[in-house]
Amino acid sequence: MSQPVDPFHALHSFDLGTGRHGHLYSLPALEAAGLGRISRLPVSLRIVLESVLRNCDGKKVTEHNVRELAQWQPQAARTAEIPFVVARIVLQDFTGVPLLVDLAAMRSAVARMGKNPKLIEPLVPVDLVVDHSVQVDFAGRPDALQRNLEMEFHRNRERYQFLKWGMQAFDTFKVVPPGIGIIHQVNLECLAQGILTREFEISDLKSQIFYPDTLVGTDSHTTMINGLGIVGWGVGGIEAEAGMLGQPVYFLTPDVVGVHLTGAIREGVTATDVALTVTQMLRKANVVGKFVEFFGPGAAALPVVDRATIANMAPEYGATMGFFPIDAESVAFLRATGRSDELCRAYENYYRAQGLLGMPHRGQIDYSAELELELGSVVPSVAGPRRPQDRIELPKLKQEFLKALTRPVTEGGFGKTEDDLYESVRVRSEFHAREVDHSYGHRHPNVEPSESEMRDQHPAPDTPQMLPLSAFPRFDAHLRHGSVLIASITSCTNTSNPTVMLAAGLLAKKAVERGLHVDSVVKCSLAPGSRVVSEYLEATGLQVYLDQLGFHLVGYGCATCIGNSGPLSAPVEQAITENDLVAASVLSGNRNFEARVHPSLKANFLMSPPLVVAFAIAGRVDLDLTSEPIGKDQSGRPVYLRDLWPSLDEIRALLQNALRPEVYRKLYADFTRQNPLWNEIPASTGLVYAWDAQSTYIQEPPFFTNFALQPGTITEIRGARALGIFGDSVTTDHISPAGSIKKSSPAGQYLLAQGVAKDDFNSYGSRRGNDRVMTRGTFANVRIKNLMLGGEEGGNTLFYAKLDAAQAKPSGGEYWPWSDVGRKMSIYDAALQYQQASVPLVVIAGQEYGTGSSRDWAAKGTSLLGVKAVVAQSFERIHRSNLVGMGVLPLQFKDGTTAQTLNLDGTETYDVLGLGPDLKPQQDLTLRITRKGNEAEDVRVRCRIDTAIEIDYYQYGGILPFVLRQLLAT
Ligand code: SF4
Repeated sequence: MSQPVDPFHALHSFDLGTGRHGHLYSLPALEAAGLGRISRLPVSLRIVLESVLRNCDGKKVTEHNVRELAQWQPQAARTAEIPFVVARIVLQDFTGVPLLVDLAAMRSAVARMGKNPKLIEPLVPVDLVVDHSVQVDFAGRPDALQRNLEMEFHRNRERYQFLKWGMQAFDTFKVVPPGIGIIHQVNLECLAQGILTREFEISDLKSQIFYPDTLVGTDSHTTMINGLGIVGWGVGGIEAEAGMLGQPVYFLTPDVVGVHLTGAIREGVTATDVALTVTQMLRKANVVGKFVEFFGPGAAALPVVDRATIANMAPEYGATMGFFPIDAESVAFLRATGRSDELCRAYENYYRAQGLLGMPHRGQIDYSAELELELGSVVPSVAGPRRPQDRIELPKLKQEFLKALTRPVTEGGFGKTEDDLYESVRVRSEFHAREVDHSYGHRHPNVEPSESEMRDQHPAPDTPQMLPLSAFPRFDAHLRHGSVLIASITSCTNTSNPTVMLAAGLLAKKAVERGLHVDSVVKCSLAPGSRVVSEYLEATGLQVYLDQLGFHLVGYGCATCIGNSGPLSAPVEQAITENDLVAASVLSGNRNFEARVHPSLKANFLMSPPLVVAFAIAGRVDLDLTSEPIGKDQSGRPVYLRDLWPSLDEIRALLQNALRPEVYRKLYADFTRQNPLWNEIPASTGLVYAWDAQSTYIQEPPFFTNFALQPGTITEIRGARALGIFGDSVTTDHISPAGSIKKSSPAGQYLLAQGVAKDDFNSYGSRRGNDRVMTRGTFANVRIKNLMLGGEEGGNTLFYAKLDAAQAKPSGGEYWPWSDVGRKMSIYDAALQYQQASVPLVVIAGQEYGTGSSRDWAAKGTSLLGVKAVVAQSFERIHRSNLVGMGVLPLQFKDGTTAQTLNLDGTETYDVLGLGPDLKPQQDLTLRITRKGNEAEDVRVRCRIDTAIEIDYYQYGGILPFVLRQLLAT
């Protein structure tokens, strides 16, 4: 039982409201001690401050860190990093599998050293939710859920076996199996506790310290939980790994933008409309990298489910968080979702004792900036056709779509004429039979899509022969620009909100009762984020009507939201391609860049679930649903959206079905046993994983192969060669692609050599548990441009062989020890040869190196290729820290210096001078460039190891060896 640290004497007792007392690190006490005007700090920052205070051990977190944050100034320059020790971690399966592979590798390393493998155990609870792998192969039929689940298990069996091993091997690592729900909705409804406790003993008395529930997750929409007053956001895998092993997550002290909400949502308007409005408004206000905190009477009036919908879209508005403070609504939500009375009382009393209970009103808190939104001004909206921040008021959709359709491609339009709009193409399912196998053009399962990947690559299907003809309903339809071909009620953003889900069901009921239907060419799907949704849609009798329109349940997972929309039928694909149709999807998701939803659909509109149903019925997006009929009833009379739209009273009358504590308790009790397919998967046992040398999915990574207890010393890098010279905005997807694996690529050749057929390559995203594939895939994006090859696309470079003395030729009186003729080869092959010759490598790049979604394999692969330093004009924040975390030195050119001003072409050798054991954060170093003929030029560069703890990480060869040594030393 650990002893609490308390340098500020802030550990106080408080009344739990249950006749017992607990302890807390008191923020009011800190203010009384004169550390700052803490009660005027934004609520989200105060919750972070509590963590800094509670973990102030003088090493990882210092008293200076506490004082600095307690004295946060709304408008100060931001230079200090905050060490944030989170209470728990959530993972989704794409990012979670490689993370578990690292933990397993650590255990193997410890076992090889003759120590107890149990030393490796996450120090904070970790929950992995398997939600990203389900694909909508089957839709519009009653057995779609079961058929899609079977396909998912067929594709992912090996990964799931490994996860089952992890479940039994680690005490603090839990898995929510496939078919249960979506990470953020499961978090909101079950995993989140609001407060957590830790036992401690002081003066021989046992007590409990209570502290706020905080987390990071390896998914950007972790922010949904901000709707419940819980601080948390998405991070990369390496940061999450460090966090689970007790390291703080470091982030730059943020600005906090307050958004003052007033009024209430009007009749006919949904929380989705508010989320889209907030996204547009905050994008314009540039809240990138900032905390956003909602407050005021409008925020207080919003139920937690509406807050969660708005918070979920924080990545779309660019904020680190979209936080709602804790109040009576938060307590009510915890009760309604089945959390225990004891927990709810302690939760309420804890935040009251901290001065954190209640929605702040204007003037109470000092924000960096304040914005205003009157909720009554929000109108029904959609967003698209390509970006979530491009909101369109519903009556304007028709004209906006037409404008986009006819705008030139060079101006972001689709380059058609207005006449094109009225041409149509007939498609019939009879044509289907001869084209069923390899013609789907759907994105591959298990791909974490990124914008460039989805635009640039067109992954091949993996097991098309598994899709029978009957997977597609029969149809005979006319397609044209604006035809809706996918209509999906998807995404935890909305499926966690019973108000909008019930509204969708009620609209479906009214539509069916008026005799309306959805054309079978429209692929409809319903993929909720938890089984609770099905319970209340069944209990209210609404699922029947959704089914009649084709919105059958297809799975409990991300599905269309992550791009797993599955195939369209072959004749539809053919009609789109041959006629270059600008066909549409309508979905209740949160991202819609081109090819995200489906590679063939160019116009994608985000909207509330009831609007998804309405547009599915209408079958096209080029109409004004507020004035034109949605269809005709059986007697030929026009039916309008206003005839179908449910009133707030109708929705409220059904809401009690959605918030029944006993349903949440039943569905979340022992859920690991509730999926028969999961239970059938055999799991290996034991504390140490029995690596299977034959596996092409899971392999022991070499991060700890030569692990020694003593770290090396920091030394200069000498005689390095350039592996690549790149321009600006190289993304993590360029560095480590997630999409399909080309047959001719090093990874493709490796898989073929292992006996894997091309059709079974799967994707880089699904093979992140195998370093052999991932290292070969590093810099293998078909769109990356290496300036050493004149900017030619593809993952190639020029290899310059090191010559021995006999081969070397005289040059300017000296011997040039390298071949001056570069041989073109893949970056992987060149790296291998350089490694065999013990030649260190550098990568040279331009601005914003490592931009895009956080991806730890971008740093892991760089390290495994033998790259010792990346020299760039600037770095994306998380990728920079990931490089340090993998023992790669980030160096930044000084203002104005670039690879171009230095005339670098890759024929040079590089030394990094000034590196030594006394290295300081952000110290200047010398990059010596030696050109042919031995002409040397020294350039000053800034070492972008930014903090003292990062120096330690670097010295130890990265975060993972650092943490492992610390654990072995205890
Ligand atoms: S449903 Fe969408 S927003 Fe939610 S976790 Fe999945 S991909 Fe992310």
